[in-house]
Amino acid sequence: MTQTIANSTLLASTEKRYPTFTIPENIVVKCPKCKEMLYERDFKRNLKVCQRCGYHGRLTASERIDLLVDPGSFVELDANIISADPLHFVSQSQVYAEKLVNEQQKVRANEGVTIGYATIEQMPLALAIMDFRFIGGSMGAAVGEKITRSIELAIDRHIPVLIASASGGARMQEGIYSLMQMTKTSAALAKLGKAGLPYYSLLTDPTTGGVTASFAMLGDVIMAEPGGLICFAGPRVIEQFMHIRLPEGAVTAEFVYQHGLIDAVVSRHELRKVLARLLRFHAQRDTSVGPFERE
Ligand SMILES: [Zn+2]
Repeated sequence: MTQTIANSTLLASTEKRYPTFTIPENIVVKCPKCKEMLYERDFKRNLKVCQRCGYHGRLTASERIDLLVDPGSFVELDANIISADPLHFVSQSQVYAEKLVNEQQKVRANEGVTIGYATIEQMPLALAIMDFRFIGGSMGAAVGEKITRSIELAIDRHIPVLIASASGGARMQEGIYSLMQMTKTSAALAKLGKAGLPYYSLLTDPTTGGVTASFAMLGDVIMAEPGGLICFAGPRVIEQFMHIRLPEGAVTAEFVYQHGLIDAVVSRHELRKVLARLLRFHAQRDTSVGPFERE
């Protein structure tokens, strides 16, 4: 299975790491990788992938859901779960409770992950889709709870689960509570495995820190979008700590694929098709026991 998907991968050039880029309300946008001027309309039509060099821009949670699932099939759950600010965190530059309110207004979502269920080519699955815009997609107690609920939903309904990660890691404003989400989500995935149900993990730019160190890397099949930053510690931290210079293209999706950490690098245009194949593969087999079981 891994081999088949790997054959369909798109290994884009990754000489440099590129800055975040948001699309202004203009007619043209400039690709941060190849500097090509692109019509915004064409860029969006091409799923925010540069037509010239294949650079994959970041998607919001709702854009990714629209991209992946059958039109109109997504049902959102637990949209009202919000962070409780358990430490009453205040730093020199921010009050966490105020920051949460600001982010909610700015992103128009209550938290950094959207969960629910949907179908892909009429096959059901549970979904948890992270949104990097919300405090860098960081995982606090609310994000961990929502992801856990999406996994429990999959167990209850006996359907597979897809988690699309986009995260700077644990949410430091929640201290130990954010780190606890790593074990919580991992424990839920162990139950999913015992139920014989598959977990598809999709890593998008960037997937780092405590998210990489927990559920993102526990997928039965782990895919990443081309060019995405995929790592535990970011390249600058590694260089400062280890006093070494990382090779060009290190800690990208292609790098971790070539080093056996993930199963495939899949172009955004192929994602839906690849997921449909995986779901079909699962639907055709006996789900009571088998290789999906984790101990
Ligand atoms: Zn480009």
